[in-house]
Amino acid sequence: MIDDKLRTAARATLTEYLKAKRLRKTPERYAILDKVCEMNKHFDIEALYAAIEGDGYHVSRSTIYNTMELLTDCGIVRRHQFGAQPAQYERVSATVNHLHLICQQCGKIKEVKDPELVSFMNSRRYSAFHDSYFCLYVYGICAACTRRNRREAGK
Ligand SMILES: [Zn+2]
Ligand SMILES: [Zn+2]
Repeated sequence: MIDDKLRTAARATLTEYLKAKRLRKTPERYAILDKVCEMNKHFDIEALYAAIEGDGYHVSRSTIYNTMELLTDCGIVRRHQFGAQPAQYERVSATVNHLHLICQQCGKIKEVKDPELVSFMNSRRYSAFHDSYFCLYVYGICAACTRRNRREAGK
């Protein structure tokens, strides 16, 4: 489902950015952006490629890579590196106020809200540094893996 307001705002941000950087406003870049606006969870390049192909639209993986670099640079998406997995992206508007719990065993990512911690982090000031944003990753073992480990240990 495309949220129209979100898409319009994202397109405006991209247009400004491309203009400022003197880059071409190619239809592929906007098609990729539209798809990104439909993604509600984290996704990697492969998932985005599959989603775009699923719509019957063809763009190369390298165009997707390059466009995601631009979208990251202009602040529409954020790039995450969770352990050894391929880079994951998510829209900045979807990322505020949650942290990521990452299972070190199966790689599953759970998002949790922690408003107290977020407001604490937002209140922090660091000398000689102007902070833009923060990401919080908590590594550990998920409930499913804990259960599986117990079962296997009990054999
Ligand atoms: Zn997230
Ligand atoms: Zn797990």
